[in-house]
Amino acid sequence: MFDPASKDMKVVHIGFDDTDSQRGRCTTNLAYKITCKLKNEMDSIFIDYPLLVRLNPNIPWKTRGNGAVCLRVKSDQPEQIIEYLLDTVRRESDLSNGANPGVAIFAGEDIPLALRQFSSRAMYDVIDIKETENLASQLSIQTFKFGEGLGIIGAVASIGSLLECDHTYEAIAYRKEQFCGSPREIDRSKVLKINTDTHPFTFNSYDSIHDRVLVTPHGPDPVFCGIRGEDPFTVIRALEYILPIERLEGYMVFRTNQGTNMHLQNDLSIKKLRTHNSGYIRCFVTKRPTIIRGGHVFFEVSNFNNNKYQVAVYEPTGLGKLASKLIEGDHIDIGISVSKGNSNGSNVLNVEYLTILNIVDEVTNINPLCNKCRKRMKSEGKNKGFQCKICGDKSDSKVVVTNSRDLQSGTYLPSLKAHRHLTKPLHRFGMEKTYPYLPKIFKPLNSEWLKSF
Ligand SMILES: [Zn+2]
Repeated sequence: MFDPASKDMKVVHIGFDDTDSQRGRCTTNLAYKITCKLKNEMDSIFIDYPLLVRLNPNIPWKTRGNGAVCLRVKSDQPEQIIEYLLDTVRRESDLSNGANPGVAIFAGEDIPLALRQFSSRAMYDVIDIKETENLASQLSIQTFKFGEGLGIIGAVASIGSLLECDHTYEAIAYRKEQFCGSPREIDRSKVLKINTDTHPFTFNSYDSIHDRVLVTPHGPDPVFCGIRGEDPFTVIRALEYILPIERLEGYMVFRTNQGTNMHLQNDLSIKKLRTHNSGYIRCFVTKRPTIIRGGHVFFEVSNFNNNKYQVAVYEPTGLGKLASKLIEGDHIDIGISVSKGNSNGSNVLNVEYLTILNIVDEVTNINPLCNKCRKRMKSEGKNKGFQCKICGDKSDSKVVVTNSRDLQSGTYLPSLKAHRHLTKPLHRFGMEKTYPYLPKIFKPLNSEWLKSF
């Protein structure tokens, strides 16, 4: 007889990553299939929602979203689960198109501190396979590699990600195989309605500036649509509302770090910057921006150690116009990804958000005004003062004027179409969840979190 409280039940944490390639398939869809099997046929009890963990988005060799999945279950048949899992990942991954899947399994109630620290680093740093395997063997995490096995990095990292404080949810609906590749028919007016009615508890469903529906992807992958939001109840309700005429396979709710800026929590001001790092720095503008062809804006900043960095604001972010108004001395905080500059190999900081903390007065010295004629006086030559050409009045020195700055303090984000999965929408600033989410204290999941049609 199946008994969830039985001593034979073991907690197993399953991580996997990189089962997809640039050309199709999808790690979250595989997670959906595996979850259905584990829950419906193998009596597994899910002690947390499936996690969709977005890792450092600035790793160049990532697949589309650099998202790894972790499933945490209680089961009395962990060996059978592992056998099924490896078989499924091998069969369902897009190995022939360059996927390099990895699977990680950890048995035990508590996630070791070293694993949690590894996962925090995977949000902003570059980690290699060797370091991952060393940690796995120290902590008795089983890892399995397919192809080149790069996926074990994300697989291990996802297990260590408890998403204890800020987190969001996404309900993702999947298509039946026979419909994959055909256009996704969705009722725009319904998307607009949920975008309005559930705000601010859903986000990134619709881009009102560019009039674009954002819940549906465009590729051949099996995702029909996804609704991102603050809690499982709201994302399920919104998803059910917009479900299309097309018969779907089912849907599943993930708990995620999407929309949390988790990759930018690391203060890079005090660290040696490495290429592909993500984080933020507080700094002063030391050279005025220049705008190059294509609308990209470059300027120089310096941190409190007087290290100088080149900063790039690329046109698609939509932040170029704002950034071009900065001047020397302005105090800013920028979310950044570090990339290798083209010309001399030094690092360039690519702006992911711009916070203007303090702007300085912009002063210029101009020729004095004649009090009688209201005309600018002309210079009489170096150190010879100024004279009005109409009435002949004289003055000794230039006058200092303070120009008005068309710039307000505040945080500015890229336009929606340039958002990453991890980008925190403006309205979420101040809405972050600060209470710990403790999967160990068993909270029943929303009864609708997994559905097959
Ligand atoms: Zn005059």
